[in-house]
Amino acid sequence: MSRDRITVNPLHRRASDAPTVEKHRLSETGMDPLTAYHVVHDETMLDGNARLNLATFVTTWMDDEAKQLYADAFDKNMIDKDEYPQTAAIEQYCQRILADLWHAPDAAASPATSTIGSSEACMLAGLALKRRWQHAREAAGADTAKPNLVMSSAVQVCWEKFCNYFEVEPRFVPVSDEHPWLDGSQLDQYVDERTIGVVAILGVTYTGAYEDVAGIQAALDEIERARGLDVPIHVDGASGAMIAPFLQPELVWDFRLPRVASINTSGHKYGLVYPGLGWVVWRDAAALPESMVFRVSYLGGDMPTLALNFSRPGAQVLLQFYLFLRLGREGYTRIQAESSEVAVHLSAGIAAMPQFDLVSDGSTIPVFAWRLRPGWSGNWNLFDLSDRLRMRGWLVPAYPMPADLEEVTVQRIVVRNGLSMDLAESLLDVIREEVAYLEALDAPLPRPTRSGGFAH
Ligand SMILES: *Cc1c(COP(=O)(O)O)cnc(C)c1O
Repeated sequence: MSRDRITVNPLHRRASDAPTVEKHRLSETGMDPLTAYHVVHDETMLDGNARLNLATFVTTWMDDEAKQLYADAFDKNMIDKDEYPQTAAIEQYCQRILADLWHAPDAAASPATSTIGSSEACMLAGLALKRRWQHAREAAGADTAKPNLVMSSAVQVCWEKFCNYFEVEPRFVPVSDEHPWLDGSQLDQYVDERTIGVVAILGVTYTGAYEDVAGIQAALDEIERARGLDVPIHVDGASGAMIAPFLQPELVWDFRLPRVASINTSGHKYGLVYPGLGWVVWRDAAALPESMVFRVSYLGGDMPTLALNFSRPGAQVLLQFYLFLRLGREGYTRIQAESSEVAVHLSAGIAAMPQFDLVSDGSTIPVFAWRLRPGWSGNWNLFDLSDRLRMRGWLVPAYPMPADLEEVTVQRIVVRNGLSMDLAESLLDVIREEVAYLEALDAPLPRPTRSGGFAH
């Protein structure tokens, strides 16, 4: 059997069809559409059950009306705003709704755009910070070399990409047991006149923790008083910006804080839409340099565009508006609260086991992590537990924490709509059984050397 060919199931094959098809080269002739469908369908069979995937933040289930709407809109290209003016208008409704949800001073005047995900949104927000800094330096007759961006070492990989691709020096504030997230306390050592901004994460990928945006703002206020530096904040709310407005409405993290220049979220995480959809909103026109907006005429009309991609599916934007209409504030609150209850219930179940210490408990975003109690067992670790759970169908990743805590391994559960209390109970049973199995080992599990980080 060649590694370059895929076997076609005889049930789906006509007598005249070859028993295998090329997978690495375009074949000379085509095949029956139904046969082709089954080949692709069967190839993805090993992809796993999305419902039991507790590693991802991304939506894997929507209701039938959403599916219908999606099917109605497969062909819509988001960039084609002249051809699809209503899709473009609906994008603006969503932007206005988010700006209002995040307390923009004047939601109608907040520049915003949809994107393919939070990563693209963060690139645009980072570029706006860089461009604002450059304009301010030029106006002051200063050079614009060596910009830097200050953030926690627990940032999502998109910020490392931003710095790498757009030549900004990343300044990572290490997480530690004492300062498990960015809280402003060490900022003074990292911020200087070349700092384009500080990133605050609402919902740290590793643990679900909220960074202290108000504390960061207070520290930056103090830096401005002492050193005259006016440094803006970008909030990476990939997950938390669609949780905090509903579950922690009293938490002040958004445009209510005057230094917050921009906020991003992933429509396809707790926005509850299928991938890929992201959003970025700026406080006001001053936060987004006009020099970043392009005006194109070749689709007809004069369309301002602000994006890294040109063509992009428009269907997800319609799905977001569908959910805003369908759920309203009450509906989002109900769904997010239920995920949160499940997360807190699961974390309490884990905390009750003598082997584990919680790193977080799921009371911010419905995400929590735990570690093996120091010195608990030489015979097994969280990677082994993750492997055991995978054998039972559950995907519950274990991974090392970021720089300065990299010797600490944690295991994390992301609760999304669809992980019901009943499923959570079965998961707890499975975890207890597998831990009992590991505890019964009379010698350490043999193991290869582990390597590699975490990139979710
Ligand atoms: C998921 C995530 C991202 C990247 O989002 P995508 O929508 O997958 O591109 C960025 N930041 C944080 C904090 C995240 O959790």
